[in-house]
Amino acid sequence: MNRIFFCFVSLLLFAYNVSAAENEKLPIGVIARFDDHGAGLPFDKAMESGVSVIQLKVPVAANRTEENVKKILDALKKHKVRLVCVVSGFAGESYKTIPTVKETVGLAPEKTRKARFEEFKDVSDFAKRLGAPSIQFHLGAVPHDTASKEYKDVVQITRDACDYVFENGQSLNLETGQETGAALLQFIRDVNRLNLHVNFDPANMILYGCGDPIEALRIVGRFVRSTHCKDARWAKQPGKEWGEEVLFGTGDVNAPLFLETLCSFGYDGPLIIERENRESPEQQYNDVLKTIEYLKQLK
Ligand code: MG
Repeated sequence: MNRIFFCFVSLLLFAYNVSAAENEKLPIGVIARFDDHGAGLPFDKAMESGVSVIQLKVPVAANRTEENVKKILDALKKHKVRLVCVVSGFAGESYKTIPTVKETVGLAPEKTRKARFEEFKDVSDFAKRLGAPSIQFHLGAVPHDTASKEYKDVVQITRDACDYVFENGQSLNLETGQETGAALLQFIRDVNRLNLHVNFDPANMILYGCGDPIEALRIVGRFVRSTHCKDARWAKQPGKEWGEEVLFGTGDVNAPLFLETLCSFGYDGPLIIERENRESPEQQYNDVLKTIEYLKQLK
């Protein structure tokens, strides 16, 4: 009898812990990378950092194995970390300059679109095996002329992407930065899919020179489902050259106002720290730890 009672109480506590973790308001997280591809902290470092959620940069195709799925799920369970999304990306993307981003990033470039869409589907299937509820990525530069065939083609591929991930029980989060707030809102309306959302990265608006991030957030705020806590300083010639990425809270984003504006939309989703500095892994990790403390104070 005692054993049955103990099992019952354990089950209740387990259910309470799971739902408490899922219901945590504004959980602090980081981007983690399982292999050496893409931005983010190495997976093991991310697990050690003390965060409660992560976005996982997708491993390259050869590493999307059952064995690695198990490794990732085991580590998440062990460290009580929740996976909120898988971040997609494609071979051949270059973030070297703003023009190369336009030419090479995402599903927008026509030359690589078809092949990349096949890879995108594989990423969504991989994310499903991990139980991730959403896929996030840089769609690429959306053509400005909304009446053009090029624009309509990008709208259509985004619909196709939304429909595919929907079948896997996922939403699609567009990372901001390459469009103004108004252009992004128009694009979301034109795609017209309920599972299309926004991962708002305020630093990208500054880095790409696409307008004041707070103003943009006010325009697309109701579509935001996750955010990158990243900061930057404006370039001398915004839109022509990169701004400079800096520690969150020390740049031109105005971090307190950013979070206040986000919360004015009733946002209680993840606050994902993104620190791209990979020249010095130690500094990157220390900056993430500093930002965790900073966000705890702001919360
Ligand atoms: Mg970002």
